Amino acid sequence: MGGITRDSVKTFLWKNTFVIFTVAAVALGVLLGFALRPHNLSIREVKYFSFPGELLMRMLQMLVLPLIVSSLVTGISSLDSKASGKMGIRAIIYYMVTTFIAVFIGIVIVILIRPGKGSRDSPMTSSGSIEPVQAADAFLDLIRNMFPPNLVEACFKQYKTLYKTTVLIENVSIMVNATILQTVQKTLEEVVPVSGSSNGVNALGLVVFSMCFGLVIGNMKQQGQALRDFFDCLNEAIMRLVAIIIWYAPVGILFLIAGKIVEMKDLAQVGGQLGMYTVSVIVGLLIHGLFVLPLLFFVVTKKNPYTFTAGLLQALITAFGTSSSSATLPITFRCLEENNHVDKTVTRFVLPVGATINMDGTALYEAVAAIFIAQVNDMDLNFGQILTISITATAASIGAAGIPQAGLVTMVIVLTSVGLPTEDITLIIAVDWFLDRLRTTTNVLGDSFGAGIVEHLSRQELQNQDVEIINSVIEENEKHYQLICQDNDPFNLCNSETTM
Ligand code: ASP
Repeated sequence: MGGITRDSVKTFLWKNTFVIFTVAAVALGVLLGFALRPHNLSIREVKYFSFPGELLMRMLQMLVLPLIVSSLVTGISSLDSKASGKMGIRAIIYYMVTTFIAVFIGIVIVILIRPGKGSRDSPMTSSGSIEPVQAADAFLDLIRNMFPPNLVEACFKQYKTLYKTTVLIENVSIMVNATILQTVQKTLEEVVPVSGSSNGVNALGLVVFSMCFGLVIGNMKQQGQALRDFFDCLNEAIMRLVAIIIWYAPVGILFLIAGKIVEMKDLAQVGGQLGMYTVSVIVGLLIHGLFVLPLLFFVVTKKNPYTFTAGLLQALITAFGTSSSSATLPITFRCLEENNHVDKTVTRFVLPVGATINMDGTALYEAVAAIFIAQVNDMDLNFGQILTISITATAASIGAAGIPQAGLVTMVIVLTSVGLPTEDITLIIAVDWFLDRLRTTTNVLGDSFGAGIVEHLSRQELQNQDVEIINSVIEENEKHYQLICQDNDPFNLCNSETTM
């Protein structure tokens, strides 16, 4: 009988409780937000109102650090170095290919739609300023952050180049007339890069350290077992905390979304060029998230990509609500492991790296934004400049942290690389809060499809791994058994049993 029974409905509802709650939370949040807008809440009131949402962010961020470290260490140490090398190469190739495709889509869309054509809109009022960093320094900062000199500091700070103006006074002799030589002082100003820092977890540094640490523990075999067990246990404990926090997620998401809707500026103001720019980014993200990534997943795995996406719904909504792929990481883990049954060895290895460096949505947005700013300034970009934008947009997406609006900061790298005015970032700040949510959702989707694809391509290694684990368990048991037999077997039972 194929009919819908009461029991089947109950099972469906029970299995999808979280997703149903989360979707309901989004709907309620939107309704509540629009219902409160006419009341013109003050900034203080909005802040209090969003408090439950802020709590969710804090809870998720609390788990991210131990989760990244423990999952990478266990993920990598449980693989032999050859297998982890192969898996790593597959993941990196996937990240590179998808990021370039995303940038390409962004460039094509922005060239076709030309959102920046026509006379320049007056910039919308915006809050916050962006400190410019030169492209070369930003690139060096990325590499510096990979090797944090102090691991404790890396848990809350990142290296960031700052600029200082130094004044050099030079004595210059000049001839006043044929006989008099006068010495005057000439001041030379030079802007020099100096070391500074910015607040926030240095995820890249921790990822690099954890990967190397995991590799070393893995090679230590039996000697490294205690550490492996420790991190394994830590990882398990964190995932259990995630299972508790997940119950609170719908409440947090409701208030995050409602708070943002109450706070946002009147959408009617966002017209003209900015409106078209928003449409261009949305179209690009939709093409990438709904067609390109699913197609790639289908071609590689021959599995239904939309069923896979349905399993990720909660992570995607959390990404939309929090605007942070790092904060979403605990939920992404859960969705992939529990709903989509992706092998834990793969998720532990691929997800933390993906959340830190693989940001398709951000790369696409950076390319669109840079070309939009060029169009607004009536600047025609040649092929070389477009190529530079695609390379720097990729680098900027790698360098962007998985936190809200990080992409806006790394935009400076893309703009300076082709000589566009960095102050024009203010043109797009007004809509960034919204586009940030969409690109974060795309980032999380890209990481998750990546885990699915890498798992499929690595099934051979994963099988070998399973066989190895079974063999080592059997070997251990045999050794144990032999020891017991040697030490106390007064009635010679071992022998009689084995010969039976
Ligand atoms: N908020 C994005 C993320 O966490 C990064 C960005 O600003 O593009 O993935």
